[in-house]
Amino acid sequence: GDREFAFVATRLGVPRKTVSGHVSDPMVISRIGSWSRAALAWAELRTMRVVRFGDNMRNVAVTEGDKVEAERRLGVSVNTYGVNDLVAVVDQVSESEIDAIVEQYADLYDVAAELLPGGARVDSLRYGARIEVALRRFVIDGGYGAFTTNFEDLGGLRQLPGLAVQRLMAEGIGFGGEGDWKTAVLGRTLKTMAAGLPGGTSFMEDYTYHLEPGQNLILGAHMLEVCPSIAAATPRIEVHPLGIGGREDPVRMVFDAAPGDAVTLGMCDLGDRLRLVANEITVVEALAEMPKLPVARAVWQPLPDFSTSTECWLSAGGPHHTVMSTALTSEHLTDLAEMLGLELALIGRETKTTQFLKELRWNNAYHRLALGF
Ligand code: MN
Repeated sequence: GDREFAFVATRLGVPRKTVSGHVSDPMVISRIGSWSRAALAWAELRTMRVVRFGDNMRNVAVTEGDKVEAERRLGVSVNTYGVNDLVAVVDQVSESEIDAIVEQYADLYDVAAELLPGGARVDSLRYGARIEVALRRFVIDGGYGAFTTNFEDLGGLRQLPGLAVQRLMAEGIGFGGEGDWKTAVLGRTLKTMAAGLPGGTSFMEDYTYHLEPGQNLILGAHMLEVCPSIAAATPRIEVHPLGIGGREDPVRMVFDAAPGDAVTLGMCDLGDRLRLVANEITVVEALAEMPKLPVARAVWQPLPDFSTSTECWLSAGGPHHTVMSTALTSEHLTDLAEMLGLELALIGRETKTTQFLKELRWNNAYHRLALGF
């Protein structure tokens, strides 16, 4: 019966995942669970709406993309508002709404004394809370699943949104910095896929490399916007200067990511199609205190090793922005890519550079043919 069904599905060209084994086998349950989560993410994409506050960062190609093609292929609808449309909402927020959010900060996080009532910089935190109330109104009440900001286009905002973005991400909203709507879409998608699993899922960027013989690592962070769902301990809310954006010092949550197995996923637009690039990684303890990097950060060992991972990632044209998830595995990503009909260039435990480069060539041929004429 299975063979008859599989033949018919093959004959009809129906994409699918095949899982065999006894129904009680934990591996069988886990693999079907992975497929089910990918299906949830697929369904979310079909109706997802994304708001961009402003355009993409200037002079950057990798954060660009074809929004019409994304809607055709993924279902997601991506639309832009002027950042001052958000500012208008920010300006309408009442003092009592700000009081309620600041109270939550004090309950949930370790807040720097200077930001608390009576502190010298209490206004910085209150303005951060004001942005949060406005973003909730615009993004969540507006039915959007993800959003972007751009530090080059802040209009009448007094701070680059940092803490507010972190808070919305923690509630399942996708985010991309510098107008990167593709990564915002992936953020919402992976958060949907990971619902209820231990671990977290966050916007991420490869910030710098730790190149020490025998211990090559990647340090990931962002200006401000990393999701506290990946935090190892209670985040601390602090305020510090920010060299870009040209606004007041922004408030942000500072923490280290919890160690463990994880994946990173990025999406690039190759012109005729979208490519997903992923890496299996192991998040490790930070090697030292990082007082000069007062933002949330993660340190990881990419698999199979630093040079293979980096060379393959660059060869695939993978972006610097990713979504990192300590809740998901490469099987979840593979199931999702299959369902979406997208290439997944996966760098993992077994990857060899020469083989990976060949796969990219084969994939180019296959995916171009699969697009049809
Ligand atoms: Mn960035």
